Amino acid sequence: MNLKMAIQKSGRLHDDSMRLLRECGIKISNGINQLKTTASNFPLEVFFFRDDDIPQYVEDGVADIGIVGENVILEKGKKVKTIAPLGFGKCRLSVAVSKEKEYRSVQDLQGKRIATSYPVIVKRFLEERRVQADIHEISGSVEIAPGIGLADAICDLVSSGSTLFMNGLKEVEVILKSEALLVGSNGLTPPQEQLLQQLCFRINAVKRAQSARYILLNAPNDRIGEICSLLPGMKSPTVLPLAEAGWSSVHAVVNEDDFWEIIENLKANGAQGILVVPIEKMIL
Ligand code: ATP
Ligand code: ZN
Repeated sequence: MNLKMAIQKSGRLHDDSMRLLRECGIKISNGINQLKTTASNFPLEVFFFRDDDIPQYVEDGVADIGIVGENVILEKGKKVKTIAPLGFGKCRLSVAVSKEKEYRSVQDLQGKRIATSYPVIVKRFLEERRVQADIHEISGSVEIAPGIGLADAICDLVSSGSTLFMNGLKEVEVILKSEALLVGSNGLTPPQEQLLQQLCFRINAVKRAQSARYILLNAPNDRIGEICSLLPGMKSPTVLPLAEAGWSSVHAVVNEDDFWEIIENLKANGAQGILVVPIEKMIL
């Protein structure tokens, strides 16, 4: 029995989804011209779909699990369960208006025309704020709508903001922060649940490793106490004697987000020869 997984056929989530599977040690061939493929070393069948169709296929059980943006899940309103956020495909769904327009609050959208591919999410956002506006659903190139006189504002996905900038728009409201999610159907059988758990175990090991760095440094023995107190480590730092008397090598795992700050403090406490290396998998 296989677990069936739906991923985006091509687009912004495709490469990261394939990479995640590869990093989980699951071997599959590239699906550019295929509808589906079977992993050679894990009971997983991978289907390649348009991202918009994935929630429906997972709800219907055509696929047991899928990788899709939270923005699509919320817009489609399908009955699927979120299993894990995956840390890629990060973007925000934002309202933007012309750079020249003054914008003070969401009330400024009252009576305006808003072009978007996310009518459901935008409608809910406006209703919650008691703003009435005219929502124009368009499927692509939303950012050109104000320039051609089709709308006063848009609501679209943004990551760097460069597309908005190039179209003379400014971001004025963030409706949603989104990333890719692993979602699952509600009707999984116990053996499928078990396979999913195995997959999640691997995904967690990969995800944990992505934000972690292995740090190695040399320090004089009389500073080891201070240095170890700066380093969390998975249990506690490893301390090994160096060939040179009075010195030790200290090894620990640190979070990517904190590591610059930690390194400053380590140097201030006499650490030398600091190496920071990536970690491939991390199992607690
Ligand atoms: P498909 O052909 O599968 O329908 P698409 O054109 O709808 O693809 P993409 O542009 O490939 O979709 O985006 C897929 C997902 O990637 C989005 O739904 C969103 O979750 C995420 N994403 C991340 N950054 C951005 C961005 N800057 N713009 C659009 N989507 C982004
Ligand atoms: Zn799409």
